Amino acid sequence: MITGIKHIAIAVRDLDAALGKYQDILGVRDVVRHEFEKARSSEAHFMLGGIQIQLCRSWDAEGRFARYIADHGDEGVHHICYTTDDIAREIAAAVQRGATLKPCASCRVTGPHKHSEGWVAFLQDKLSGLETEFMQVYGPGEGPDLDRRAM
Ligand SMILES: [Zn+2]
Repeated sequence: MITGIKHIAIAVRDLDAALGKYQDILGVRDVVRHEFEKARSSEAHFMLGGIQIQLCRSWDAEGRFARYIADHGDEGVHHICYTTDDIAREIAAAVQRGATLKPCASCRVTGPHKHSEGWVAFLQDKLSGLETEFMQVYGPGEGPDLDRRAM
């Protein structure tokens, strides 16, 4: 079952400008910045109310966050990542309800596969314009470094 929200990803045009507003208006601190080569995105991650917010800027006009802005005419929520205690079961249930799986924009893998923080999978179906990601966060001993064969 869905157990919570792991992160909310927001597509932005200018990462510094977007982050500056969160820092000025909401008092955000403790920001971690990432440059993701595979995803070709620059991101700023921070916690707000127990949920991680990810501000995401694509490097290329064809990147998924740039395309979101082009399609919607403005910055906005690109996807919500829900945590699940059993990603295989969650995905199977969603597919049974009519959902379609989508290849990961970074890895091109369709269905559950390993990322840095957990097993992830993506739905093709948009819910109110949003993409949906599922993550089964690694438990003790399940991290990616412990099983490189599966990566
Ligand atoms: Zn992936």
